Amino acid sequence: MEAAIFFAHDKKKNFDYSAVKDCKSTASENLELRFHRFPKLNEVKAWKIATKINKILSNTKVCSLHFKKSDYILPGKLILGV
Ligand SMILES: [Zn+2]
Repeated sequence: MEAAIFFAHDKKKNFDYSAVKDCKSTASENLELRFHRFPKLNEVKAWKIATKINKILSNTKVCSLHFKKSDYILPGKLILGV
């Protein structure tokens, strides 16, 4: 029973926010923004430097305010500061 309650609670909290320091963007309030999960490959180092985020969790995301149009190289895939 407890597991079921926890699961329901967890699902409710499922909205994105920007992990960048001093950025208050959330997916629930900033509908025009996109939220990007950190990449798992080589790009992660460049992302860390550009966003000054050192600790990356599975739900750590960065909103599109921190990207330039030129950062987007393929739909859904980006490289920062390279
Ligand atoms: Zn942001």
